[in-house]
Amino acid sequence: MKFQCTVIEIINRTQLVRSIRTTKPENFTFKAGQFVKILSNSGTKYLSISCAPSRNFLEFTKRITESDFSQRFNDLKQQDLIVFEGPFGNFVLDDDRKIAFVAGGIGITPIYSMLDELLLKGNMENRGDFVLFYGNRTSDDIAFYNELENMSLSMNLKIFFFLDNLDTLNDDNFRPGFLSYDKMKACLPDITERKIYISGPPKMVETITEQFKAHGIQNIKTEKIQGYSGA
Ligand SMILES: Cc1cc2nc3c(=O)[nH]c(=O)nc-3n(C[C@H](O)[C@H](O)[C@H](O)COP(=O)(O)OP(=O)(O)OC[C@H]3O[C@@H](n4cnc5c(N)ncnc54)[C@H](O)[C@@H]3O)c2cc1C
Repeated sequence: MKFQCTVIEIINRTQLVRSIRTTKPENFTFKAGQFVKILSNSGTKYLSISCAPSRNFLEFTKRITESDFSQRFNDLKQQDLIVFEGPFGNFVLDDDRKIAFVAGGIGITPIYSMLDELLLKGNMENRGDFVLFYGNRTSDDIAFYNELENMSLSMNLKIFFFLDNLDTLNDDNFRPGFLSYDKMKACLPDITERKIYISGPPKMVETITEQFKAHGIQNIKTEKIQGYSGA
């Protein structure tokens, strides 16, 4: 089914990542973590919804590339129309009390939707505790950094940021290098008891999933954010 929404706000998350907030069509419902197919003259692309279903708006967050679609996304302004189909996908929250989220780069978008929903539901004490491992190249590439830090103050959420290039940051929440099972286990000894949600570039998702499985962890949900070169 096709839906139409109107741009209401544009938010720059990093130099190369931009969020578009839109009106929410009245008859459109989705689950946190799902994605839609954006239809435009510059092509069709899948984008995860980067906000909670209980928000009264929709939000899409895109890493801007040289493509026509990206340029069109980058040029969107208030009152512009967006047409999409959906929602799609099974990367949605189940009823687990202990969760570890693992995000690589723009793979944060569906996980951010889940965290936003958990935050808004406000029943954190009943829902258990949450840990986010979020990998990026540099600190400048971390989308939603301030929002995530604020979330961690308002809910039972601990965040570890992993940076390929750990520059001058001297913060216990930052760790150097690529995400791996061993590094996450060192931060979170009870990781083997948790439900794992992994979202990011296909190669990263496959590698980390294999590492978890090699350590006997089967309770895993994944989303591969396909479409970027080098992914
Ligand atoms: C389920 C799902 C959810 C997604 N959610 C988001 C999101 O929330 N935010 C976001 O920014 N993106 C998301 N994506 C990716 C998005 O759909 C686009 O593919 C991506 O943004 C690149 O589009 P583009 O127009 O910028 O670049 P394009 O011109 O389409 O491609 C950029 C580069 O990637 C290469 N490329 C294209 N397709 C592939 C491929 N299949 N395998 C390897 N290389 C390829 C191209 O050659 C080019 O070099 C999601 C994808 C999926 C499948």
